[in-house]
Amino acid sequence: TQDKLIESEKMASIGRLASRIAHELRNPIQGIRMGIEWLQQDLQHDQRFTTTLQHIDQEILAVNTIVQDLLEYARDMKFEYTETDLYSLLDGILFNLSDKLSERHLTVRTHYDDVGMVVVDGIRLRQALLNLVQNAIEAMPENGTLTLSVTLQDEQQIAIIIQDTGCGMSQEQQQRIFEPFYTTKDKGVGLGMSIVHKIIEAHGGQIQLESQQGQGTRVTLLLPKHFSPKGIKSLTP
Ligand code: ADP
Ligand code: MG
Repeated sequence: TQDKLIESEKMASIGRLASRIAHELRNPIQGIRMGIEWLQQDLQHDQRFTTTLQHIDQEILAVNTIVQDLLEYARDMKFEYTETDLYSLLDGILFNLSDKLSERHLTVRTHYDDVGMVVVDGIRLRQALLNLVQNAIEAMPENGTLTLSVTLQDEQQIAIIIQDTGCGMSQEQQQRIFEPFYTTKDKGVGLGMSIVHKIIEAHGGQIQLESQQGQGTRVTLLLPKHFSPKGIKSLTP
C-alpha cells in the first residue's frame, strides 16, 4: 500500500505538471493556427505553398489534440446526464471520421438493436467512443473492418461494442492499456484509454477487453440501463 500511495502521488504530480504545460501551450498553438489560416488565404493561388501549409496545419492539429488530451485527462471532469440517443451519437462519430475511414479503405458495419434512450453524459460518452474508434482505426493501417454494435446485454445493461480486425494486443499491452501515458505508438500520448476509463467509471459502467495479436480487438462497454448518478434523481422512475 505504501508503494501504491507513492505511485498515486507521483501520478498526481505528473498530472499537475502535464496540465500546466498543456495550458501554457494552448495560446501559442492558437496563434500558430491563426497564422496558418492567414497564410492559406494570402497564398491560396500558389500551389508551392498550399501543400506545405496543409501539412503544417495537419501537424499543428495533431499537437493540439495532444494538448486537449492532456487537459481533458488532468481536469476534474464534471458530468451532466441527459437522455441520449446512442445511435445518432455513434453515427456522428462515424461521420466525423469518414475521411480517415475511407483513406484507409476500412469497411464499417453497424448493428444497432433498439435500446431506447439512455441516460448518459452525451458529450463525455462521445469523447470516450471517439477515443475507442480512433484506436480501432489506428490498429488497422490499411483495409479491415470496424464494427460498432449496440445491444441489450441483459435486463440491466446496455452493451456498446467496438470491434476491429487490426493488430491486436499482447497480454502485457492489455494489462497496461489504462495506464496514463502508456502508448506503443510513435505519435501517441497514451491518454485515450485512461480518459475512456474515467468516463465509463463515472457512468457506473464496465469495460471488457478481448484481443488477439494479429487478429483484432473487441472492446465492450457495459452501461447500466437505468442509471441514476449520485445526487441526481432518476429520470426514469
Ligand atoms: P494512444 O492511442 O495515444 O497510444 P491509448 O490510451 O488510446 O493511447 O491506447 C494505449 C495503447 O493501447 C495503444 O498505444 C495501443 O498499444 C493499445 N491499444 C488501444 N486500443 C487498441 C486497439 N484497438 N488495437 C490494438 N491496440 C490498441
Ligand atoms: Mg488512442
